[in-house]
Amino acid sequence: MSNLPSEPEFEQAYKELASTLENSSLFEKNPEYKKALEIAAIPERIIQFRVIWEDDKGQVQVNRGYRVQFNSALGPYKGGLRFHPTVNLSVLKFLGFEQTFKNALTGLNMGGAKGGADFDPKGKSDSEIRKFCVAFMSELGKHIGANIDVPAGDIGVSPREIGWMFGQYKKQTKSWEGVLTGKGLSWGGSLIRPEATGYGCVYYVDHMIKYASGDKASFSGKKVTISGSGNVAQYAALKVIEYGGTVVSLSDSKGSIIAKDGAGITPEMVHTIADLKVKRKALSELANSSDFSSKVEYKEGVRPWLHVGNVDVALPSATQNEVSQEEAEGLIKAGCKFIAEGSNMGCTQEAIDVFEKARKEKKGDAIWYAPGKAANAGGVAVSGLEMAQNSARIKWTAEEVDAKLKDIMSNCFENCLNTAKEYVTPEEGEFPSLVAGANIAGAIKTFSAM
Ligand code: GLU
Repeated sequence: MSNLPSEPEFEQAYKELASTLENSSLFEKNPEYKKALEIAAIPERIIQFRVIWEDDKGQVQVNRGYRVQFNSALGPYKGGLRFHPTVNLSVLKFLGFEQTFKNALTGLNMGGAKGGADFDPKGKSDSEIRKFCVAFMSELGKHIGANIDVPAGDIGVSPREIGWMFGQYKKQTKSWEGVLTGKGLSWGGSLIRPEATGYGCVYYVDHMIKYASGDKASFSGKKVTISGSGNVAQYAALKVIEYGGTVVSLSDSKGSIIAKDGAGITPEMVHTIADLKVKRKALSELANSSDFSSKVEYKEGVRPWLHVGNVDVALPSATQNEVSQEEAEGLIKAGCKFIAEGSNMGCTQEAIDVFEKARKEKKGDAIWYAPGKAANAGGVAVSGLEMAQNSARIKWTAEEVDAKLKDIMSNCFENCLNTAKEYVTPEEGEFPSLVAGANIAGAIKTFSAM
């Protein structure tokens, strides 16, 4: 591959998946899957375009827009749009590749894709963001459709941006197709979609806890460190609190808030953070406000992992590579037993190696790590349920969607567990590797369809 430009994020995601497949009996049992992996490593199609828009001063601005349509073996391309200055082809290829196997793990029929732009919504006015969304969709709209490709949100793209893009798509196609997902409730969105990624991650970890410590064990009494303060982190925190756990941290790109005296982040704080984030304000404002300054401490410029004291569970829910080797080691020293990614590729390969080594060595007292493609699959799963409701012109209640989400996460956990047991023989007393299980199960579904 030396004639190709380096794509560090994509290469990391590819190697992480390929190494677990190679270290299992998958290729021995299915030799044709080796070629399938080689094929699946190349996106079916990449669309790249320029996005020209006008800022509030009337100046012309330009950004790079992309859609990586990675794999359609299982259904229409499906995956979010990310608007962030770090977006480039390597990042979107890693996300589209991960999305392919994640979508396979939902059990629904969705292919994998990812898109976005290097546009930075920070510091832009609402009107500038709206103009950018319209300009972005006026090109992307030519390449998507209900049975072709159904984008959704990701970092920097919330229901508001989805709304502006949906309006533009509807205008230019003259048809109501339900494209995109993550829509507002009054115009085709699904109940529980905003909550789905965070809730789903907590449902998945609840299965890990019960498998490790028996059916009566739960989040109750456990300390949980969470990073991020967007959609995923907010709803993961609320569900952990509902399940009786104590959330000891949240963070944003500038720093972390740590709950003082083991008291924990309250739902009221989470709701205040949600309001701050809509206004694109920093988390430090919560820590400095008179209502909360006695309850949380703000640590500037750091991620929470090495600053939370003893914890039982860690849920990285901000962005990729947000747990380093040193931080993984620190979490283990702090007593952390369960790590699950609300973000995509939240852990570096070195951090995963630390967790996987600990899982093997500690056996029954295992440290157990779940990758994002399994643990955060709830978001795209409910996007799939939104597509189903749109096509059938029906609307399920919150209870109905939540029950389906719980089922999907439960099946996903069982699938990862049983696939790991079947394809990688664990030593006596060793917990099956959920990374291997997720990668192999996602690969089997995708490769057999290919
Ligand atoms: N961006 C989310 C993810 O990483 C959701 C994608 C979707 O709903 O299509 O899975």
